[in-house]
Amino acid sequence: MTRKVRVRFAPSPTGPLHIGGVRTALYNYLFARQNGGDMILRIEDTDQTRFVPGAEAYIIEALDWLGIKFDEGVHIGGPYGPYRQSDRKPMYRQYAEQLLRDGWAYYAFDTAEALDAKRKEYESQKRTFQYDCTTRGEMENSLSLPADEVERRLASGAPYVVRFRFPADTEITVHDLIRGDVTMNSNLLDDKVLFKSDGMPTYHLANIVDDHTMEISHVIRGEEWLPSAPLHVMLYKAFGWEDTMPQFAHLPLLLKPEGNGKLSKRDGDRLGFPVFPLDWHDPKSGELSSGYREKGYLPEAVVNILALLGWNPGTEQEILSMDELIKQFNIEHISKSGAKFNVEKAKWFNHEYLQMRSDEEIAKMFEPQLQAHHVQAPHDYVVKVCGMMKERINFPSELWDTCCYFFEAPTDYDPAAIKKRWKAGMTTHMAKVIEILNTVPFDYEAIHKALLDDYIVGNQLNMGQVMNSLRLAVVGKTVGPDMLTLVMTIGKEETIRRVQRAIDTIGEVE
Ligand code: GLU
Repeated sequence: MTRKVRVRFAPSPTGPLHIGGVRTALYNYLFARQNGGDMILRIEDTDQTRFVPGAEAYIIEALDWLGIKFDEGVHIGGPYGPYRQSDRKPMYRQYAEQLLRDGWAYYAFDTAEALDAKRKEYESQKRTFQYDCTTRGEMENSLSLPADEVERRLASGAPYVVRFRFPADTEITVHDLIRGDVTMNSNLLDDKVLFKSDGMPTYHLANIVDDHTMEISHVIRGEEWLPSAPLHVMLYKAFGWEDTMPQFAHLPLLLKPEGNGKLSKRDGDRLGFPVFPLDWHDPKSGELSSGYREKGYLPEAVVNILALLGWNPGTEQEILSMDELIKQFNIEHISKSGAKFNVEKAKWFNHEYLQMRSDEEIAKMFEPQLQAHHVQAPHDYVVKVCGMMKERINFPSELWDTCCYFFEAPTDYDPAAIKKRWKAGMTTHMAKVIEILNTVPFDYEAIHKALLDDYIVGNQLNMGQVMNSLRLAVVGKTVGPDMLTLVMTIGKEETIRRVQRAIDTIGEVE
């Protein structure tokens, strides 16, 4: 019988979720959906010293915004709960005790000072101290101390940790779905702490116990966890759970846009793009880290961008909806090497997804900007302008600058454009524009014929100069959509008002 696919996203609430973490959640989600499996949100908060208030709520909100949905989790419950490790605390002790009983773990009593002194001693000999099979004999633990002394210490309530006991000189192989077999010798691995006398497990113990008891079938997580994987494989062996050990897939790192090194928060600040899904206000420093949502990225664009950072469909197709991603995603096409973040490409994706939104939706995004500029315009007019202008923007925040002249007459005129376009005789030509608008039916074709064909071409005038001067009068600059479409949109009266004002303000030039 094949096993039901059950995957988990297991963040630690130590701050805002990095987009690398979002990508991990996304890949888990795609894999779960594709295989009719379950997607679980588990909060790994065993390290209370790194706990950050608000981080858990942030993670939930961010994934919800992106449409990454869960079947079970800390926020919705489920049959394998609780889903927050601090709420599962009482269940871990029995597993630590099982390992101790079976000789896979031992008590260690070394104080922080003793460990520090040991590290210094090694440093002075130009060596690096690691608590492992070669050094554990020099330390104070249940392997080096007499049994009655261990008993006495435990009975007296002396603080301890439980460490994993790696067997000496053993090859440990992790089978990774992306990298194949990764083998490490146990001599290189330290006896990691699994449990502390305050009853709290560490990440390693809690993670394995939870994956086992939650019947997780696949562990899809960041490459930074690959060095921990041999310990995890050994823990499955030690518990006797090898038969149901999940399959592992370690995802490549997200790299800085210019090449090597992991993408960091500072890269985002430096290069002007977010590395977090949502704005994050650090509760301690008050510092703001910007998010994709507040920058104006659409969630479906972010999903598409992240999906292609480290995976490709094996075709040229770049625009992939969540449903298409669910159909096409496969672990075999995940790359082994790091994926470089490309800011320009990210903007392009957002542009493409904005075009797929209705004019009505774009108008809704534009509303706060209109309000900020105290503009009151008929809704249909706003929708029409948004429909015309959306192809020119990458982000909704660019709308006002791109199309403010649809709502406000210019108050000044670009001096360089005046110099270049507003030549001698231009006030006469502009007066003619007003005359045509006043006499010809207000209709695109009719005005085109009267102004462009009959007047400009008929009199062998410079088309660029006259039309760009008209543009200057209406817009204030020589930018914008097709000139007559613009005139038709803002209307006859408004066009005439603007042209008259330009004649009065700029006047005749020599
Ligand atoms: N809590 C770990 C993290 O924050 C989870 C690692 C794993 O998925 O095993 O990334």
